[in-house]
Amino acid sequence: MGSLSITEKLHAVCIPYPAQGHINPMLKLAKLLHFKGFHITFVNTEYNHKRLLKSRGPDSLNGLPSFRFETIPDGLPEPDVDATQDIPSLCESTRKTCLPHFKNLISKLNRNSEGSDAQNAPPVTCIVSDGCMSFTVDAAEEFGIPEVLFWTTSACGFMCYMQYRHLVAKGITPLKDSSYITNGYLENTIDWIPGIKDIRLRDVPSFVRTIDPNDLMLDFILGETKRASRGSAIVVNTFDALEHDVMEALSTILPPVYSIGPLNLLLNNVTDKDLKKIGSNLWKEEPECLEWLDNQEPNSVVYVNFGSITVMTSDQLIEFAWGLANSKKTFLWVIRPDLVAGDNAVLPSEFIEETKNRGLLSSWCPQEQVLAHPSIKGFLTHSGWNSTLESICGGVPMICWPFFAEQQTNCRFCCKEWGIGMEIEDVRRDRIENLVRELMDGKKGQEMKNKALEWKNLAVDAASSPNGSSLKNLDSMVNQILLSSK
Ligand code: UDP
Repeated sequence: MGSLSITEKLHAVCIPYPAQGHINPMLKLAKLLHFKGFHITFVNTEYNHKRLLKSRGPDSLNGLPSFRFETIPDGLPEPDVDATQDIPSLCESTRKTCLPHFKNLISKLNRNSEGSDAQNAPPVTCIVSDGCMSFTVDAAEEFGIPEVLFWTTSACGFMCYMQYRHLVAKGITPLKDSSYITNGYLENTIDWIPGIKDIRLRDVPSFVRTIDPNDLMLDFILGETKRASRGSAIVVNTFDALEHDVMEALSTILPPVYSIGPLNLLLNNVTDKDLKKIGSNLWKEEPECLEWLDNQEPNSVVYVNFGSITVMTSDQLIEFAWGLANSKKTFLWVIRPDLVAGDNAVLPSEFIEETKNRGLLSSWCPQEQVLAHPSIKGFLTHSGWNSTLESICGGVPMICWPFFAEQQTNCRFCCKEWGIGMEIEDVRRDRIENLVRELMDGKKGQEMKNKALEWKNLAVDAASSPNGSSLKNLDSMVNQILLSSK
């Protein structure tokens, strides 16, 4: 991947939505743009900046002279302990309070660029914003600079979000009453979403499951998707071979839209050590699990992790535990301290005793490295998009337990379109045991493994072969910014 020749220095202000699954891919995109010659300002919320300093150490956010960090408030009171983020409150707060702070920041960066000091950053020439921070388009329009909107979801999830206004117009959501959640209504097929066939209402991102016409998340998605058309370009962390039809369909309803993933594979081309040191984990990583994996047989371990936001009941935790124990398989299970809603995650001592020779528990791990490790055979996941894509990059098939947002859509695509997933419909120990055995030893498990390896090869191709679609798309997107920044 060559850097483009940029005669006049460009300055991109990158602003993620302030949650783990958004900060990670935005940091990767920012690093790629830096590699292409951009000066980068990366904007965290004050709260997340403090968490990053705590989890990664004080030197981690020094950045480089041409890759700097800034903060803005998220408008929420700071919690006493690092509890699971309340996403509806965060959505409400960011869209209502962040814009003036963001505009002040851009004005400050522009003021700082004046003068002859060689250390000065150039004036801001473009904004790269999370699609769920679309208040930033007001700033881009005011400053007369282009804005790239980055939807960190799958293309299929994004397409479903884009259809929310049609779901409302057709009277499909909000639901008439709460009985519609259990009366089979959600099983109805929806056959009119562009680029998507064979999807049920229950596979559409979870925020449609509301009976409240003023539901915060429904309203949030309607607002963010409406503003998507005001971006100069849209980027999605996926690759053409995986989501070709949906990407085609998106390109007919939006400004230029580019698939530029998997970003973690594109980033393999960037070897700058100082850049590599900059990380984005809000929890402290426990790298010991990699050593433990080194001592396991190839293709012998099931990896269990539900990401940064999913919560469960303590009953569900116990069902998962006994399902894993009864499968008799070796496992690495990451349990965030806040995984059980309103409680500490406590596992039965009998479970700990029974699995002590074949299970490792951890609280946060370097997931990309774990999924790329040869000992991992399968992944029990909540189907977050980053986790799904990282699993595809490792050639690892999945058992899917989607929690919320577009995880339902990702799960459907894994199971039906891509042939690399099996869904857990209810959390019972016998069901989990059977699925884990099937994943690790069964015929279907082997078929899914073969399919996952095929997708992995296509992902590598998109990200690193000379004509790789994502490599070319990234260059086209950068060229488009170059042209519109003049
Ligand atoms: N992650 C990690 N270690 C963990 C758990 C998660 O590094 O123990 C990373 C994971 O690699 C992914 C992100 O956190 O990049 C989670 O994003 P995802 O979209 O999968 O789920 P979310 O947390 O947004 O629900």
